Amino acid sequence: MGVFYHVVEGDPLDNGNKSEVIEGLSGCTIEGPDGRSRNQAFIGHRAYCGVCKSAGLIAEGPGTPGYDLRMYDATIRAHDAVEGDIVVCQCSPPPRVVAVYGRSSSIHDVDRSADSTPSAIDAREVADAATTAASAHALTKSFDDHYVLVDRESGATLANFEYAVVRASGAVEHGVSDADGKTHMLSSTAKVEDIDIYV
Ligand SMILES: [Zn+2]
Repeated sequence: MGVFYHVVEGDPLDNGNKSEVIEGLSGCTIEGPDGRSRNQAFIGHRAYCGVCKSAGLIAEGPGTPGYDLRMYDATIRAHDAVEGDIVVCQCSPPPRVVAVYGRSSSIHDVDRSADSTPSAIDAREVADAATTAASAHALTKSFDDHYVLVDRESGATLANFEYAVVRASGAVEHGVSDADGKTHMLSSTAKVEDIDIYV
């Protein structure tokens, strides 16, 4: 159950160290919030792990939608990758892929217990690339452990904006900014932390 965003080339893994997806299907692109189109990644595509410094293949992660909900590409005979899929490198447990740039496209997994006849077509929804332009990528440190999202060019605060925070640990938290452009309270930021925010 839940929303699973699609993965594209350049998306990070959750173990930091510049780990990222390094392969995608050319010609099959998703436009990112920065306006750049990136190749969509599928199961079996490669990702680089900066922890064990090797490349591994993307595999279906625990808790992710089954293949019946995923798009199948007949030319490469693979299903599309989503956030939460794992990378089989030399690390144990394996790192997971974080969807950052392909978030205009997602799979809405359904609660199968509530609907006995789910259809893969109905359950799949590719949202419009309604995400705003890249110039919106900026932040200012605020009081407490909130951050305020501001437009880098106009300086205006970004209210009700979807964002993803990649913590120094590599963990990812998703959220929507409030009416004042404030993010949620980041848990346990006892010290100044090097975080990345994507909108
Ligand atoms: Zn690794």
